[in-house]
Amino acid sequence: MIRVLVPLAFEDAQPGLIAEVHTVRGETMGTTWQVKWVHESRQPVDEAFIRRAIEAELCLVVDQMSTWKKDSVLSSFNEAAPSSLVSIPDALADVLEASFWLADVSGGAFNPAAGAVVNLWGFGPAPRYTDSGFYPPDVDEVQHAMQRTNWESLGFNRVGKQLFQPGGVWLDLSAIAKGYAVDRVAQKMIDMGFCHVMVEVGGEFRGHGMRPGGLPWWLELEVPPCVPGSTVALVNHLALHGVAVATSGDYRRVYVHDGLYCCHSVDPRTGQPITNGVASVSVVHKYCMWADGWATALMVLGVGQGIVLAERHGIAALFVERLPEGGLKETMTLAMRNMAQ
Ligand code: AMP
Ligand code: MG
Repeated sequence: MIRVLVPLAFEDAQPGLIAEVHTVRGETMGTTWQVKWVHESRQPVDEAFIRRAIEAELCLVVDQMSTWKKDSVLSSFNEAAPSSLVSIPDALADVLEASFWLADVSGGAFNPAAGAVVNLWGFGPAPRYTDSGFYPPDVDEVQHAMQRTNWESLGFNRVGKQLFQPGGVWLDLSAIAKGYAVDRVAQKMIDMGFCHVMVEVGGEFRGHGMRPGGLPWWLELEVPPCVPGSTVALVNHLALHGVAVATSGDYRRVYVHDGLYCCHSVDPRTGQPITNGVASVSVVHKYCMWADGWATALMVLGVGQGIVLAERHGIAALFVERLPEGGLKETMTLAMRNMAQ
C-alpha cells in the first residue's frame, strides 16, 4: 500500500508551458549527487555552467567539512595541537552551530565531536571496518576515546569564528554535512533563477516547485531491508515541494562482530553502535541540514526518547523499528501524520 506525504504549504511558482527537465550528476563525499531542474526559457541551457556552479558548492563543503580530505579545515582542526584556537570559515561555522545545538538538545545522542569513537568502530576515514586486519575496539579503548568526545570543551565562538582544540578532539560532521551540501546546491539553483528543482546528495533530498505538467517531484522513501516474507512497512511517497528529507538507517554501513551487529550510528553516550532496534528514521524539514542532523539524532535516541524530543520541537519524523519476529513497525510524529494522506 502506498501512503502519500504532502507538505501543508504550497509554493507559488507555476511551471511554464515550454519546459523540459534537465539532469546533471556526479560524485562527491564518497557518494553520488544529482540535480534536476525545469528549464523554462527558450534560451538553450548551459549545462556545463550549471554543473560548475553546483560543483563549486560541493567543493566548498568538502574543503571545509570533510574528515577524508587531509587538508580540509575540519581535518586541520582535528590535527591541531592541544590548546590551540582554529579559525572557522562561515559555512563550517553554520554547520557547527547547528551541530552543537543538536548535541545540547539531544543530550549528546548527536555529537559532532564523537569522531574518536566513530573511528574506533571503523566508520571514520581509517582504519575502515572493511580493511583487512580491522578489529573492533575493546572496552578500554572505547573508554579512552570517549574522553575525547566532549563537544562542550570546544568553546565555539560564533562571533569570533574560532574553535578551541583542547587536544585530541576529533570532529566528524558526516551526519549533517551532506544535508548542508544539499541546501547550498538548492539555494544556488534558486539564486540562478530555477524555481523547479530537485537536489540529491547520497540519499538526502530537497525539492522546490514542480515538474512540467504540475506534478511534484515525488520521492519514494527508503524502506529498510527486513527478513524475506515478513511484513513490509508501507511505501511512503513524499511530495518534495518546498521541503527536504533525510534518512538514517542501520543497514547502510554495517558488519557483525562476535554476534554484535555494528552499524555506523554510534551512541556517543555509551561509545557503542546503537542496539535500540530502530531500522531507520526519515525526517522532513524545510532545510536538509536539519533533516539530516535530526535523522541521526533520532536514530540514536530510539523511538522512546526520540519521539518525545521530536514532538517537543515539532519535527516531522517517521521511525521504522525492527520487530523481534522480523517485521517492521512504523511510528510517526504528529507533524509527519499531518502530511499523510
Ligand atoms: P547519517 O547517515 O546521517 O546518520 O550519518 C552517519 C555518520 O555520522 C556516521 O558514518 C558517522 O560518521 C557519524 N555519526 C555516527 N554516530 C553519530 C552520532 N551519534 N552523532 C553524530 N555523528 C555520528
Ligand atoms: Mg544524518
